[in-house]
Amino acid sequence: MEKHILVTGGAGFLGSHLVERLLNEGNYVICLDNYFTGQKRNIMKFLDNPYFEVIRHDVTMPFYIEVDEIFNLACPASPVHYQYNPIKTIKTSVAGAINMLGLAKRIKAKILQASTSEVYGDPEVHPQTESYWGHVNPIGIRSCYDEGKRCAETLFMDYHIQNDVRIKLMRIFNTYGPRMHPNDGRVVSNFIVQALNGKNITVFGDGMQTRSFQYVSDNIEGMIRLMASRDDFLGPVNIGNPNEFTMIELAEMVIKLTKSKSKIVFEPLPADDPMQRKPDITLAKKELGWEPKIQLEEGLTKTIEYFKSIL
Ligand code: NAD
Ligand code: UDP
Repeated sequence: MEKHILVTGGAGFLGSHLVERLLNEGNYVICLDNYFTGQKRNIMKFLDNPYFEVIRHDVTMPFYIEVDEIFNLACPASPVHYQYNPIKTIKTSVAGAINMLGLAKRIKAKILQASTSEVYGDPEVHPQTESYWGHVNPIGIRSCYDEGKRCAETLFMDYHIQNDVRIKLMRIFNTYGPRMHPNDGRVVSNFIVQALNGKNITVFGDGMQTRSFQYVSDNIEGMIRLMASRDDFLGPVNIGNPNEFTMIELAEMVIKLTKSKSKIVFEPLPADDPMQRKPDITLAKKELGWEPKIQLEEGLTKTIEYFKSIL
């Protein structure tokens, strides 16, 4: 049956892919965004779909609507953007969660939070399981994002316990793919744009830090399955690809796939940059029957095609 679904941050990278998937499944979708890091271009092709609506709104302000489900994705995700106005970032996570949870409570909607592997901080446990409480600096340059997302998880759990709100907590690991902004600032889009423009590839630190990169379609499949999971499965659940790469390996793969003549250059490592990150996805496999399908080389190839088409 057709559902009415609110996607906050729907004009962003992940939000626009989620909107597309939900529309394809025959739902009525309302996209709410303040266009801080989102782009109208991401949602342009849905604008003449009668099942689609866009509302310019900031989640730090209360909002009222009647829907069945809410996907709460509104929040800048790239360190460059979330550090631009850290107070606004934490307000977006915390006040945004309070506003969306208050709405979910009033209208009895189910609500999913786009949480993050950043709740694990610079992890001392490897790979990271959902039971790990994390190693996060509360007063560093990443704190506005990490602590904001941790507080949002707390709020979600408390609204569930205190008010029976049906919640889902999704801990998303680094995701990349088409519709990332060329100036997004995250590593995959940076390296691809640099390689395609023949510019130096900027590796921060010695490049031995690791990340586990997930292609966007795998992420969206995990998100849809989590929202549809039985009511007593709340998460948090890791959604990510366990294949782990150093930033040097990523840079070399991007150079190979773009056939670029770009050279790798080293720049200072930003403060509090996590040294390693890799999800344990046992829980997602068991509860959601989910695992990633697209490996890095295939996903990078699709992403490179996208950037070639827009640059
Ligand atoms: P993005 O920056 O492309 O999208 C975020 C969207 O939220 C943008 O459209 C932006 O304009 C909107 N937004 C920001 N602040 C807002 C506010 N106050 N009110 C309304 N809209 C606002 O980032 P993304 O990669 O699509 O991330 C989406 C969500 O997933 C974020 O919550 C992010 O923290 C989470 N996440 C993403 C990743 C990843 O690797 N992509 C990893 C972990 C978590
Ligand atoms: N990074 C890099 N060069 C860049 C951008 C990022 O070497 O141009 C590194 C960054 O220091 C980090 C990793 O790539 O170690 C992933 O960074 P990103 O900003 O994509 O995400 P996050 O640190 O939040 O996982």
